[in-house]
This record gives sequence, C-alpha cells and structure tokens, in this order.
Amino acid sequence: MSATTPHPETYTCRHCGGPREQATSVGGSFCSERCLYQHRGEKALRQIVSDHRWCATCFRQIKTTHRPPESELRSMDVPRHIRDVFIGFQERTEHATEGVDIDERTDGSSRRIEYTRTSCSCGAVDPCDRHEVLRELDPAETIQSLWRCLNSLERDGTLQRRPEKDAYIEALRDSDRDWVYAIGRALYAE
Ligand SMILES: [Zn+2]
Ligand SMILES: [Zn+2]
Repeated sequence: MSATTPHPETYTCRHCGGPREQATSVGGSFCSERCLYQHRGEKALRQIVSDHRWCATCFRQIKTTHRPPESELRSMDVPRHIRDVFIGFQERTEHATEGVDIDERTDGSSRRIEYTRTSCSCGAVDPCDRHEVLRELDPAETIQSLWRCLNSLERDGTLQRRPEKDAYIEALRDSDRDWVYAIGRALYAE
C-alpha cells in the first residue's frame, strides 16, 4: 500500500517552452502574461513582415500597393486569371532606399552574389530583418511608426483587431520597450 501525494502536473509554455502549472497558467497554455502577449504580438509581427510593405525594424512604410478598380483592369486587357491574384502596383515611399545584399552560396563554391534590393532608410537592408539596435536609435519615432503601422494594417484588413493606444503605450513602458509584447497588448487589450 502506498500513499500517493498528488503533485501538480507540469506542462510546457506554448511561447517560451518553459514549465508551467495548470493552476497558474495564463490564457490556457502560457506560463505568464508576458508570454501570452508576446505570442500574440509575434503572430501579428509575422503578418507585418510577410506583408512586405513595412520595415520590420523601424515599422515605417517602404512600399505602397495600389490596386486599380476592376473596371480599369479590364479596360487594360488584364486577363481574368491575373486579375484574380493581382495585388496591385507597388510604389516605394520616401523611406525606401536601394540596398546591396549578399547571397552567400552554401554549395561549397564560396561564391558570393551581390544584388540590389528595396531596403529601408533606417539601415535595414532586408526589410524582413529585425535589428534591435537600429530600432532603438530613435525610440520615440519607432513608437509612432509602429502605431501608424498597426492602424494602417487594421484598416486594410490585414490585422483583424483594432489597436488600443493606452494599452500600447502602457505595455511599452511596463516592459522597457518589448516591441513584440506591446504589439500583442495593443491588439488584445482587455
Ligand atoms: Zn512562457
Ligand atoms: Zn526601417
């Protein structure tokens, strides 16, 4: 006969992978509030990145997309199968700049291919990259541009949730500018 002492079962946090207990979990599967909102912020940030119109470092808009009305596309003889998938004409904004990127070959040939691409004037050559140092050069500006970015993406339907300014500012202050956390808090304000 053995006495079993019930011990709380330990699970894994969906965001940081650390241990969590059922009783103290946040949002079902996170170890902390920080992890919950970071997770949500990360999801939104990935959408910002895949959108390609925004710089993931400074959050300024580097490209705009304009889609003419259907009737105009038809009058331009754009075939139906193209019209169906056509996102729009792209234009660079004043924040865009020409950057030189390098593609290092991994096939053992040690060849380096240099090519030009649309970069951001903040210094990020690849607008999909996140450079913490560049982002922190002008935090006040970054706070503004991220706010504008979130609002613009909500308006055009890329983000399904409307950002909330108080929650956004508070989150930045509380977390000493954890940008990903602040995105999560802004979009999922209670
Ligand atoms: Zn966690
Ligand atoms: Zn930038």
